[in-house]
Amino acid sequence: SKKKGRNRYEFFSYSIEEKATEKRKLIEEIKLGLKESQFELYYQPIFSVDGKSITKAEALIRWNHPQKGLIGPNEFIPMAEKNGLISDIGRWVKSQAIQDCTLFNKISKRLIQVSVNTSPLEIDRSGEWVEQWIQASEQFNLPGHSVLIEVTENTLMGTDSEIKRQLKRLSEFQIDVAIDDFGVGYSSLAYLQRLDIDILKIDRSFIKDIEKNDNSIALVRAIITMAHNLNVEVVAEGVEKQEQYMLLKQMQCDYIQGYYFSKPVSKKVFVSEFIEE
Ligand code: C2E
Ligand code: CA
Ligand code: CA
Ligand code: CA
Repeated sequence: SKKKGRNRYEFFSYSIEEKATEKRKLIEEIKLGLKESQFELYYQPIFSVDGKSITKAEALIRWNHPQKGLIGPNEFIPMAEKNGLISDIGRWVKSQAIQDCTLFNKISKRLIQVSVNTSPLEIDRSGEWVEQWIQASEQFNLPGHSVLIEVTENTLMGTDSEIKRQLKRLSEFQIDVAIDDFGVGYSSLAYLQRLDIDILKIDRSFIKDIEKNDNSIALVRAIITMAHNLNVEVVAEGVEKQEQYMLLKQMQCDYIQGYYFSKPVSKKVFVSEFIEE
């Protein structure tokens, strides 16, 4: 088959050794990049369904690589997850997001919740990760509910009582929790209630063709209804078109995120264009 042929081509064109060298190089570059402040958090505004006010912003990491230019997370997060570097990146993201959150809420007239992505590999059973969040939020005296931590369904899969206890602790300190990419992983609706989840983010793949696909409409409507019955609010991700926005509004989705309203922008642009003083 064609696919096989292509793989064979790739196999012969890059030796295993060359690939390993590339990987090692990337790992060293990430370490250096962290030291030399080459990483940056962009922010994508999340709008209330009325389309008027911004109540949240998702922090999305970018890498200003000295040779390659601006690099997106898909090009280095998976690698960092495989090599244990994700906790270093995660620590940096956490501290930067907390500083930015402090700044946003100093100038904004209404609360802005900063939403932070978390790799499943960052959450350890010892509870260190959760305690770091709690300490940092106390140290910076962050307003309650100004941080939202996004975890994927797979993080919660087979959840043991230890992770449950940790999520509960976040709740006690008014740090909210969202399930990211909802619908693509091994979700169990039971988690929503059992783990005191605050927000559910419907994965972009369900929104993509919603205006053309009755099945997607039925599915998204069911997710929203169910979430609301469990007292969980809903963000629709990847909203690109007005028709999609209109449908989601009809379905009483709570928040909208996507290119239709704005792409992720630098912190500076986010402050100047989206924060109401
Ligand atoms: P995600 O958490 O699902 O983030 C949403 C992604 O969708 C972002 O890509 C965003 O730019 C993109 N997006 C937003 N609106 C639209 C839209 O309307 N249409 C389309 N086509 N795309 C849209 P980005 O920034 O490249 O991030 C990719 C993934 O990298 C994220 O997916 C997240 O899983 C991961 N990531 C980003 N920042 C971090 C981080 O600080 N830590 C960790 N662990 N992962 C991160
Ligand atoms: Ca996310
Ligand atoms: Ca909670
Ligand atoms: Ca997502």
